[in-house]
Amino acid sequence: MKAEILTIGDELLRGEILDSNKSFLAARLCELGVEAYRQTSIRDDLGELVDAFRCAAARSDLILVSGGLGPTRDDRTTESIAKAFGRKLVLDTASLREIEQYFVRRGRTMAESNAKQAYFPEGSEVLRNPLGTAPGFALQESKSWFFCMPGIPAELVKMMNESVVPQIEKRSDLRKEVSSTILLRTFGIGESSLEEALKDCFHGSGVTLGFRIAFPDLFLRLTAKGNEPAKVQAHLAQAQAVLRERLGAVLYGEEQEDLEKIVVNLLRESHQTLAVAESCTGGWIAQRLTAVAGASEVFLGGVVAYSNELKAKLLGVDPALLATHGAVSEAVARAMAEGACTRLGAELSVATTGIAGPTGGSAEKPVGFAYVAIARRGEATQVRSFCAELERNRHRLLTTQIALDGLRRRMLGFDWNLNRAGGISQPVD
Ligand code: ATP
Ligand code: MG
Repeated sequence: MKAEILTIGDELLRGEILDSNKSFLAARLCELGVEAYRQTSIRDDLGELVDAFRCAAARSDLILVSGGLGPTRDDRTTESIAKAFGRKLVLDTASLREIEQYFVRRGRTMAESNAKQAYFPEGSEVLRNPLGTAPGFALQESKSWFFCMPGIPAELVKMMNESVVPQIEKRSDLRKEVSSTILLRTFGIGESSLEEALKDCFHGSGVTLGFRIAFPDLFLRLTAKGNEPAKVQAHLAQAQAVLRERLGAVLYGEEQEDLEKIVVNLLRESHQTLAVAESCTGGWIAQRLTAVAGASEVFLGGVVAYSNELKAKLLGVDPALLATHGAVSEAVARAMAEGACTRLGAELSVATTGIAGPTGGSAEKPVGFAYVAIARRGEATQVRSFCAELERNRHRLLTTQIALDGLRRRMLGFDWNLNRAGGISQPVD
């Protein structure tokens, strides 16, 4: 099935508002296994609209339309669609009554122009709008189905979910082909290395692979299409297994599974407690962990030790180490992590210290240089360094990600090597 989305309104083309309806409708279609082939925004102009409706009818089976159903003169969707397909506008008395009631309930009188919203192209089915005055409508023009919805996002969402989706689901002629998508999260490998590692995958298999950067992660998008939903799901599962095998520890979860959630779950499963000792990340690791519901079972808390004095006083870092090696050093990162375990009474800890920039670098330790250390009681502490020249907050975010990823790797028994400037890179076999 070919589906497309038309969003209508001058304000969209002028960039005055973000076209959230377009992304909502596209995502909702994807959930139904339908992929939009095209998305178009059109001005409130009769000629342009007539043209757009005719073109859409010529190439698509399902056309979702947003906006231009209101009472004002710049709302021209209904009029243009009627003109495009040579239909008369006819009054729907039930809709007129509903619009009148809408105003009565609010103690207001209905403006003359609102009556316009009760007229629909001949042969349409009216879609109720419990939230506003503009009803929508569904209309079939030869093989194409149009669903016209109001522009106001809350009204569109309700109408899409309650009236349009059930119709799409019901109409098997609109759902000849289904598609299904899964997003997988990777961290620690660059886009080109990922492409290289997967270059021979999925050719001619009916599964397509896409990449999306969501700093500091890189998402993989797998899409499978076919006529039978069960087969589509099986293809997708197979493709996912191939990726997991190829990428090993680099692939860490599905779309909803962010690293903090995974770390909290792993801590829970292994009955371990965690504390953090943060310098350059300033509490951001703690902030991410505490965003996970139920983190209190396993996350004890931490210390934001920015100054040398507090590193010594709260974490027990030997002042001699600070004097000899400086705060951004392997020895200090190690001492911070070990201090967090002993001083805060946790089994596991992570520490960060680095130069987020834009100032404070030196020839020996340039801006972007940082250490992350992970300590576990009774085991050797791991310390890793990396250098990534990034805007300050991106650097800090990357550091939190490296820290959480290090914890995940430690708990799962994976290697932990940071060996590429600008990020971390793992062998992918
Ligand atoms: P109304 O009856 O309120 O006039 P309508 O169906 O005519 O509804 P529009 O006039 O096109 O819809 O838009 C109404 C408001 O809805 C806009 O001012 C805008 O704030 C919002 N809106 C319209 N289209 C979109 C869109 N594609 N994405 C997000 N918001 C939108
Ligand atoms: Mg309007």
